[in-house]
Amino acid sequence: MSRLVIVSNRVANPERGQASGGLAVSILDALRKHGGMWFGWNGEIVADEADITLTRAAHDHCTLMTMPLTERDYREYYLGFSNEVLWPVHHYRLDLAHFTLEAAEGYRRVNARFAEKLSEIVNRSDLIWVHDYHLIPLGADLRARGVGNEIGFFLHIPFPPPEVLSATPEHEWLMSSLLDYDLVGFQTTTDQANFCRFICESMAGEMTAPDTLRVAGKCLRVSVFPVGIDVDSFVAMAQSSEADNRLQRSRREAEPGCSVIGVDRLDYSKGLPEKFRAFGRLLEMCPDGCKPASLIQIASPTRDDLEPYIDIRRQLEALSGAINGHYGDFDWTPLRYIHRAVGRETLAGLYRASRIGLVTPLRDGMNLVAKEYVAAQDEADPGVLVLSRFAGAAEDLQEALIVNPYDIDEVAHAMRRAIEMTKQERVERHQALMGRLRQHDACNWMLGFLAALSSCRQQLADDMGARRARRRNANQRRGPLAAFSGYASASNSKGKLIAGTKFGGGTRSSS
Ligand code: UDP
Repeated sequence: MSRLVIVSNRVANPERGQASGGLAVSILDALRKHGGMWFGWNGEIVADEADITLTRAAHDHCTLMTMPLTERDYREYYLGFSNEVLWPVHHYRLDLAHFTLEAAEGYRRVNARFAEKLSEIVNRSDLIWVHDYHLIPLGADLRARGVGNEIGFFLHIPFPPPEVLSATPEHEWLMSSLLDYDLVGFQTTTDQANFCRFICESMAGEMTAPDTLRVAGKCLRVSVFPVGIDVDSFVAMAQSSEADNRLQRSRREAEPGCSVIGVDRLDYSKGLPEKFRAFGRLLEMCPDGCKPASLIQIASPTRDDLEPYIDIRRQLEALSGAINGHYGDFDWTPLRYIHRAVGRETLAGLYRASRIGLVTPLRDGMNLVAKEYVAAQDEADPGVLVLSRFAGAAEDLQEALIVNPYDIDEVAHAMRRAIEMTKQERVERHQALMGRLRQHDACNWMLGFLAALSSCRQQLADDMGARRARRRNANQRRGPLAAFSGYASASNSKGKLIAGTKFGGGTRSSS
């Protein structure tokens, strides 16, 4: 079996418990099962490029190969282009995108350096799996250094429609660099369809099969692999002694009303001010003196040196203060806002103790918290997931109460519905959701992607062969002039969708 080489911007140190964030959690689960190498930034910053060296560390079944960034890399590649351009644009927040030439240069420079260091240590038979928006051009940079391995790319964040994407100044270069991968994976059919639309409409691409793109003489597979969680280990975590301690404490210290939990990084994409307003609206809808629910919101710090993040933190402090000031009582703090990262065992206990899981991002690639909340529930008396329609998870978790997070009234009413829901309905919804969690779990995500990556060259060659054979047969049936008309019709497809080609639908991977 080929060795797996995973590349991501940041390599989490599992021994320091640095795995808060969906990507790190998913990669660690994958490496625990498959073994291999994880390559990327170690989180350290050095003054000068001359100080950058690769460090090797062994962990369980995998090797961690890491290096630092310079201060300038951190400012330009990480904060600048990745988090002030790509992150907001891909979350449909053009108003927050801030583009500079230095940032774009930094992004190119760091990707090229990753390619240089990685190309020195990969073996010819390695399967290379590149993760996320920080490293879009890495595949093309590796190809330029002669790396001929199968290389796949998975985008953990949303892919916006072409009309939004084209606001990124470097978008054409970025998208064309994606064409050097053998396989490009997305979280949802919407993301996949947006990408294919861009390639067909703006780059004269053509879909030769529901998950195959041909463009500029290259062929690549484009599929959907929804990220999942390790369901059994999370169920076990929710029943561990640490989770149970948390559960018992929560019950002892319970605030009045139904308990609601929210767990998000403190990011503007997570819709936290809207969530607080919806919670305030729920309290407002109830008669005076009624205490219908108490919300615990964990908002773990992230990128707190960027202005939009400082701004959202201020908004949340003001909103939580206003809600508690208005509705709180001597025996009741309606909203407990905790700006700190919390361990996953403790989270599991909190999820289990909460009647409502409130997951309302304005836009999210997948959202693992939604899946963890469901897995942590007591199956005999489960809580209810209230889930934003704009989270990737909503494409699958249809038995949650699906809401529009911008509509404060709708979210408040969904919470009220969850409070009043009968046990029978809660159990039925929970059973269906657990089935979906198991169908798209962490293992299936990883195996589905790797199976597609390792077979995709053969499959692309077979597809091309079958296409050529079909064309030859059709030409033979139509006579000698047909070869010419076949050529003409292929040219006419330039830049247009092939008639009858359907984006997205039915192309979900078998994971
Ligand atoms: N998480 C954590 N501690 C925290 C907050 C989050 O361990 O204080 C974990 C959470 O359990 C989940 C992941 O971080 O596994 C968040 O993933 P999600 O996909 O919901 O959001 P992301 O942060 O990747 O946007």
